[in-house]
Amino acid sequence: MAEVVIIGSGFAGLCMGIKLQQAGCEDFVILEKADDLGGTWRDNTYPGCACDIPSYLYSFSFEQNPRWTRMFAPWDEILAYLRHCADKYGIAGKIRYGAEVTEAVFDEATGHWTVTVNGDETIETQALVTGVGSLHEPKLPDIPGLDSFGGTTFHSAQWDHSADLRGRNVAVIGTGASAIQFVPQLAGEVAQLDLYQRTPPWVTPKPDRAIGRWERKLHERFPAGQRTIRNAIYWGLEGRGAGFAGNPKLMKGLEIQAKRHLRKQITDPELRAKLTPDYQIGCKRVLISNDYYPALTRPNVDVVTTPIARITPTGVVTADGTERACDAIVHGTGFAVSANLTRMPILGKDGVDLADHWKRNGIGAHLGITVAGYPNLFLLVGPNTLLGHSSMIFMIEAQVRYVMQALHLLRRRNATYVEVREDAQEQFVTGVQGELGDTVWNAGCTSWYLDASGRNSTIWPEWTMSYWRRTRRLDPSDFAVVH
Ligand code: NAP
Repeated sequence: MAEVVIIGSGFAGLCMGIKLQQAGCEDFVILEKADDLGGTWRDNTYPGCACDIPSYLYSFSFEQNPRWTRMFAPWDEILAYLRHCADKYGIAGKIRYGAEVTEAVFDEATGHWTVTVNGDETIETQALVTGVGSLHEPKLPDIPGLDSFGGTTFHSAQWDHSADLRGRNVAVIGTGASAIQFVPQLAGEVAQLDLYQRTPPWVTPKPDRAIGRWERKLHERFPAGQRTIRNAIYWGLEGRGAGFAGNPKLMKGLEIQAKRHLRKQITDPELRAKLTPDYQIGCKRVLISNDYYPALTRPNVDVVTTPIARITPTGVVTADGTERACDAIVHGTGFAVSANLTRMPILGKDGVDLADHWKRNGIGAHLGITVAGYPNLFLLVGPNTLLGHSSMIFMIEAQVRYVMQALHLLRRRNATYVEVREDAQEQFVTGVQGELGDTVWNAGCTSWYLDASGRNSTIWPEWTMSYWRRTRRLDPSDFAVVH
């Protein structure tokens, strides 16, 4: 029996553990299916992998890191930061590795969840918190013949570092946030890189720079200075959010910046035409890079825009019948977003799996955190809490604060369980869906923000400040407190 079970040891799970520990709750365990902590920053180790939100902000507010060596820290620094946090706040020993949650079942009589680990062991808990991430399960493209390929092949989130791609012919499928980071690294070392682009991304300059030794020392001595920079970055990005949420004038500015960036870096009109997006900026994640376009101008790089028809044992065939031979295929094709929240059966009050419940009623949760029918269950990075413009760590901290209040309510009232009221959830979900309405995220293009039916259950459509405000104080009247 544990008072709280947390699933996942990425930013979300660790933040939850730290806050429980700080509140004096020792009776919790973090279940991690892998053999190390770090979530997405453990899995994504591809060349060039780095944060695309400035690290001053992409970090916990309560643990500023004076050691960042760049404005946009590489993955290994972020992973080291997470390890540091787990050690410093004394929760490293609370993590159980190799512990995959395979089922969770709620019992109404006791208010407890029975969590099955690795299919055989069970742990009973009063509260279950999921921090399983939303960009986690690699999605391979659905292309005929994919399995027949005889060369090396892997997904960007499962980079095969044992594969030596130097001097080889490599095909890359996808031009999203991951590919844009690893393509420039690969281009310099492979013989030939064929980049298969389905949709050109909007790309703006990356305001990156090294953070020198003296600056780092200064941050160490005067943390208030670093905090001031963090705040300035926060408000800068928050201002951009206003554009996403419906101010076309602000989006126009971003579009002009992206087009100027493209013009400046790509002089060949044919290549420039291929790389010019024909959809509204902001409907997919706006990417930042200074070295992506220059990499595409290299003589050993071809941007292929003809759709892929099939894959053969030796290469890629496009719809015009051309076969391009390659030794390796790297998939930069993103993640199965909706699968993540439903990767293990979570059976609520009526014994209904959350996945089925959502299939029937649409994906939704009150504030993205609690679901009616699933008492004492709390989702971190749940539905409609992802951001297109700012730091997810800010959202995670707001969610953890809210969950702490829910746990406090449970304890203070000596309740069996707390369950969000259906009407409170409905009001929230309807409000968010209404706000998403015809924003750029819904109407601009097709993207992984939208599910097969066109519903957007990923994006938070308001300012992050408004999410902070709405989650700051849990309203007990939103919950049924059952004894
Ligand atoms: P992504 O943004 O979903 O991009 C996937 C790419 O693969 C897109 O260009 C997509 O084209 C293409 N694609 C998918 N299926 C295809 C197919 N069958 N044939 C051809 N092309 C196909 O995935 P990602 O780049 O891995 O990034 C996912 C998310 O992870 C990002 O949006 C971001 O939130 C996060 N991320 C963050 C960072 C960071 O620094 N913080 C870094 C990397 C990733 P379409 O556009 O046509 O669908």
